[in-house]
Amino acid sequence: MGTQSDIKLINEEGLRNDGRKFNELRPIRIEVGVLNRADGSAYIEWGGNKVLVAVYGPREAFPKHTQNPSRAIINARYNMAAFSVDERKRPGPDRRAIEISKVISEALEVAVFTEQFPRTSIDVYIEVLQADAGTRIAGLTAASVALVDAGIPMKDMVVGCAAGKIDGKVVLDLNKEEDNFGQADLPMAIIPRTDEIVLLQMDGNFSREELEQAVELSKKAATYISNLQREALMAKYKSQEPEKEGERSE
Ligand code: ADP
Repeated sequence: MGTQSDIKLINEEGLRNDGRKFNELRPIRIEVGVLNRADGSAYIEWGGNKVLVAVYGPREAFPKHTQNPSRAIINARYNMAAFSVDERKRPGPDRRAIEISKVISEALEVAVFTEQFPRTSIDVYIEVLQADAGTRIAGLTAASVALVDAGIPMKDMVVGCAAGKIDGKVVLDLNKEEDNFGQADLPMAIIPRTDEIVLLQMDGNFSREELEQAVELSKKAATYISNLQREALMAKYKSQEPEKEGERSE
């Protein structure tokens, strides 16, 4: 997150550097079941972000001392590929990846009915192939879809979204340039059905009023993203339905 800079991020017409209005998301596309060997999987493109998620489990947690006798544990592992950013990223987990893995695991734990699977682990591998700001919320959004694809019961899918502040104005879903030269970023995740906020982080500073505006913008966008998640799942299962008599193409 940048400090004061001369770079103008909103033009005279009120449009952002990629032509979006203050409350507009970048284009989002979700695909389900993209990996044959995982129990569940999903791929998301969110603006310039490209993220692949594979889910395994519930399976017996190993090593045994990690098992919880009353519920499943969720191990999300967020990883950025070396080629996902402009300058080659050093492979392997760094502090940032460990933090993001932790907050994503905790967010998913609220949604999954973990008590139905004692002593097991649900492993969620989040691989960022291309990064353009907002990868944690893109990864979390795709992870929820991959969990459904794996048949894991949840109260609802978790939806990630972010709002931020650029040129002193609160806007939805920062891209990389806005993230670099803006004043604040607020990634969050909610469970739309219960309205619970399951992830909330802040980089930079918001006034109380701005914070409320940012949360409101993300909450509205979450309804739209939640529909995209559902449509992506329906698309997979519709394509697998056997064709009905009479509908068969010659
Ligand atoms: P998020 O991707 O969830 O917004 P950050 O705010 O930490 O997480 O990162 C913003 C963006 O900065 C990332 O999406 C990525 O484009 C870039 N970035 C993060 N870490 C690195 C890194 N180690 N090397 C190069 N670019 C990075």
